[in-house]
Amino acid sequence: MLDKKLIYDLSKEELSEVFAQWQEPPYRVNQLWEGLYHHLWDKSQEFTVFPKSLRSQIDEEFTFHAIEPIREISSSDGETKKTLFYTRAGNPIETVLMQYKDRNTLCISSQSGCAMGCRFCATGQMGFKANLSSGEIIAQVFYYNRILKQDGKKLTNIVIMGMGEPFYNFEQTMTAVDRLNDPQGFNFGERRFTISTVGIVPQIRRFTELKRQINLAISLHAANDELRSQIIPINRKYPISELLNACRDYVKTTHRRITFEWALIRDFNDSVEQAVQLSHLLNGILCHVNLIPLNPTENFSYQAPSQDRIQKFQKVLLEHQIPCTVRMRRGIDIQAGCGQLALRNP
Ligand code: SAH
Ligand code: SF4
Repeated sequence: MLDKKLIYDLSKEELSEVFAQWQEPPYRVNQLWEGLYHHLWDKSQEFTVFPKSLRSQIDEEFTFHAIEPIREISSSDGETKKTLFYTRAGNPIETVLMQYKDRNTLCISSQSGCAMGCRFCATGQMGFKANLSSGEIIAQVFYYNRILKQDGKKLTNIVIMGMGEPFYNFEQTMTAVDRLNDPQGFNFGERRFTISTVGIVPQIRRFTELKRQINLAISLHAANDELRSQIIPINRKYPISELLNACRDYVKTTHRRITFEWALIRDFNDSVEQAVQLSHLLNGILCHVNLIPLNPTENFSYQAPSQDRIQKFQKVLLEHQIPCTVRMRRGIDIQAGCGQLALRNP
């Protein structure tokens, strides 16, 4: 099947070129696009607006089949679902749906594995396998959209916080967002996307220049370089001062609030001193801090702090006028929490 192109990898212009070569009139491309991205048809047979010959031609050239679900698990409270997929090239990825009240948030992967090697993250512990194509990123959204539709529900938010570092797969990730955003297609508003990065400074700057409405989250996790480099190797390349300069410029250019993520790790970054240091670092930046009590992973022996320590940390930030919330832990029992995505015996 790898000899066929994945139809979701092509832009509307590229599909137009193919159809032009096939001598199809231009309105056919609009029908194709609407079928793919508005009706979410995923078989050529569903395109009954097309003559049979065109449907066969599509099947000869393209496949609709991007990712194969291998295993699906639900958390005990039923609110979180995680699916392990294989891409056509046989690389594992995971996608997590979090349903809470009227929010249906999908956490999608941008890579299979991750090369960044953050010590506390299961994906980092697994290493890098492959970049996903835009079509493979989109397919995760469509898979879950279909499931929700059966219950009369819709996705409300998409967070690019699953496996991988999206800013090291910049083009494909942004192409996927653009395609999902297209008003003539899936029409998913930019403001409902969040991209999370470990802090790839040149790419943050590149993202800033695009002046998009997509939310940006930065995984900070420590307030000085010595501590941060211990758990996030890329910090040696892009230290905190450079990272925060890029964040300041982002806010200045886009006037958008930035989110800083902080996985609270007991006896590592949960002290009042770290909270004070963090407050000073973020002073003057339009931001919000998301505290995530550490989710356990196999190869990192640290724990989450006690509730009391978490609240103390939060209190220090609030006293310094830094907006700050503690993220609810979700899907921990099925290893679907932040940083817990990795291939475990399928
Ligand atoms: N590579 C990107 C996005 C994927 S990681 C990034 O690093 O931002 C998504 C989020 O989960 C990041 O904020 C990451 O730091 C966090 N995370 C990773 N491992 C975690 C763990 N064990 N507990 C809590 N959060 C974790
Ligand atoms: Fe990669 Fe993000 Fe995990 Fe770090 S935290 S290893 S960047 S997925």
